[in-house]
Amino acid sequence: MGNEKAKKRILTGDRPTGPLHLGHYVGSLQNRVRLQHQYDTFIIVADVQTLSTNFDHPENLSADVRQVTLDNLSVGLDPDSAKVFVQSMVPQIAELTVFFSMFITVNRLKHNPTIKTEAGQYGFEDNMTYGFLGYPVSQAADILFCRADLVPVGEDQLPVVEVSRFTARRFNELYAPVFPEPQSLSGDTARLVGLDGQAKMSKSIGNCIYLSDSPEDIRTKVMSAVTDPARIHRDDPGHPEICTIFSYQQAFNRDESPDIEERCRAGTIGCVACKKRMVQVIEELLGPIRERRARFEKPGVVDEILLAGTEEARKEGGRTMEMVRGAMHIDYFHPGGQ
Ligand code: ATP
Ligand code: MG
Repeated sequence: MGNEKAKKRILTGDRPTGPLHLGHYVGSLQNRVRLQHQYDTFIIVADVQTLSTNFDHPENLSADVRQVTLDNLSVGLDPDSAKVFVQSMVPQIAELTVFFSMFITVNRLKHNPTIKTEAGQYGFEDNMTYGFLGYPVSQAADILFCRADLVPVGEDQLPVVEVSRFTARRFNELYAPVFPEPQSLSGDTARLVGLDGQAKMSKSIGNCIYLSDSPEDIRTKVMSAVTDPARIHRDDPGHPEICTIFSYQQAFNRDESPDIEERCRAGTIGCVACKKRMVQVIEELLGPIRERRARFEKPGVVDEILLAGTEEARKEGGRTMEMVRGAMHIDYFHPGGQ
């Protein structure tokens, strides 16, 4: 049934909660750009999922939806082939969420490691909304509405993608084989640490280098980042394994990082020189991204891309819903999708 497509499909995306940063780049953006022509690519701007934590201030969404789209375009997403769309404007995603929620148990969601961690971060442990607990079900609908095969995401999202895999398997067993079981794919650096040394660079914490930062922002942020606290003098031997900047060397300056590691341990490169090199490396990465952003920043360009992508997503959602209704025997008046 429904899995025959000209190309395999990618579905991935971001919550419009603020500007994207280097963590997004290494965790997910880099993979989606690399694979965008090999796969038929759908990029979701997950505004409904944002409401699972930000339902009390929806007024930021309008700007953030455009901002996140611009960030995707600035890193090289090609709008002539990838389809960028707004989640709340694809009604089939909401429909699928309802159908999936009939057979996904509350226990499966409550015990999901990502839900547990994020509930802690947001202080939701004792007071969780139905929508927050259920966001993995809604995310299964985001992925499966276009019958996606591959989901490039950061490591923190892997347990949530597991719910999508389970949903696809369970639906296929219960009704008929409509959905592929989507595979997740993490970047080489599946979790980039924050500038403050915290486990994850995160826009909610604000410990980030943003893709839209100016050369001056980059310099200030890198030069004031935490390094090895035991290193006071330039020639003290360093401990690169606990240094934030060294983890960035590994993520963004792979070729030079073994040499930097050796010199840091030997005390022959100081933190200032190591940081200065990092500033250059990040600027080499973000300079072209900044230039591409400026090209897409002209009035109306982003809106046009989003409207066209959303139209395509709705069409694909319509095809999937025909299969779903047929499989579930709820195509009462048009059996077989006539
Ligand atoms: P929020 O705090 O609003 O949830 P976020 O920084 O976690 O924001 P999301 O929009 O939830 O960002 O995540 C988008 C994608 O980027 C996901 O695939 C996520 O796994 C990935 N990602 C986010 N931060 C990092 C990071 N520091 N390292 C690697 N991947 C990341
Ligand atoms: Mg997140």
